[in-house]
Amino acid sequence: MSDRTNVKVVLKTRPEGMVKEENFDVVSEPAGQPGDNQMLVKTLWLSLDPYMRGRMSDRASYAKPLQIGEVMTGGIVGEVVESNCADYPEGTIVSAMHGWQSYAVAGPEDYRLFKVDPTLAPISTAVGTTGMPGQTAYFGLLKLGKPQPGETVVVSAASGAVGSVVGQIAKIKGCRAVGVAGGAEKCRYVVEELGFDACVDYKAADFAEQLKKVCPDGVDVYFENVGGDVLDAVAPLLNKGARVPVCGFISAYNTTNMADVKTPEMVLSALPYPPESRFFIVTEWIEEFESSSKQLGDWIKEGKLKYRETIVEGLENAPNAFKMLFTGENFGKLMIKVA
Ligand code: NDP
Repeated sequence: MSDRTNVKVVLKTRPEGMVKEENFDVVSEPAGQPGDNQMLVKTLWLSLDPYMRGRMSDRASYAKPLQIGEVMTGGIVGEVVESNCADYPEGTIVSAMHGWQSYAVAGPEDYRLFKVDPTLAPISTAVGTTGMPGQTAYFGLLKLGKPQPGETVVVSAASGAVGSVVGQIAKIKGCRAVGVAGGAEKCRYVVEELGFDACVDYKAADFAEQLKKVCPDGVDVYFENVGGDVLDAVAPLLNKGARVPVCGFISAYNTTNMADVKTPEMVLSALPYPPESRFFIVTEWIEEFESSSKQLGDWIKEGKLKYRETIVEGLENAPNAFKMLFTGENFGKLMIKVA
């Protein structure tokens, strides 16, 4: 038995509406002991992501819901601290799906366990710009959005982990990048620091008019992250032949009655010229994760891809921090510094 203590955050109750701290429990147990061809991984960084809200509800989705008492799902960056795997000596940095806990026993064949190259970019980015959110932007935009030079690409949640990368890749590909974000400070950052051509505050009373003004040639690609009123404003601006990768619609994630939600599919299929559109999951391109990480890391090194992190210290603060994603209090990638 290890003398290390594993602190873990488990699902205590299913949220009704907005997620709350009391939906979680923090518990401790002795850390596991690695067996043959296994390793013990100490979590350094935990990613907090909007999809986790869906796992907390007992509702059919592309992934199974969490059970009460189960460790919250989540991507981590960690360090191998004990190893019986020749390929993963102590000190190796990995990314893995170990959830909201401070230690986990892992095997080299585990699904979504990858070595992290610390020379590529700061290792925290392995749950951010070079990791899952960056890859979501990369594949969603390039494979489904198919942006062409000179086209207008609009992205919602533009200052966030995924949206910030979408707009910057659109610029790398020679497009006009327009962001939608909440508040003047986020919009300023998106234009002045990330280099988008424009950014519009969806909380402004004249949001739809402002958006139209900054898209004089219409919209060729809309990267959908939020749904709701933002989608309603973008939809009439879509050009014939437009593409809409549906990445998520966060405005509905804390809804009590999903039957009342107007999904992106419902809105888009009612248009006179429905765009080429589908929902995607980043793991569709899991075979290409390592090469895309390398590309994203290279763009960071070349100064073409900038990012911002909101870092909260301590695993025990993850339940309180999680709701920042739904109030917009995070600014860039939200993560927990666990150790
Ligand atoms: P972000 O870092 O963008 O954080 C979430 C942001 O969403 C908030 O900061 C807030 O920004 C915005 N937001 C929250 N509530 C609302 C609302 N009601 N209306 C409009 N905006 C809102 O998160 P991610 O980049 O990690 O995720 C962005 C989207 O991508 C989500 O929908 C997520 O589910 C999806 N996703 C999908 C994946 C896939 O494989 N399909 C993989 C990863 C993410 P603001 O202050 O600007 O309002």
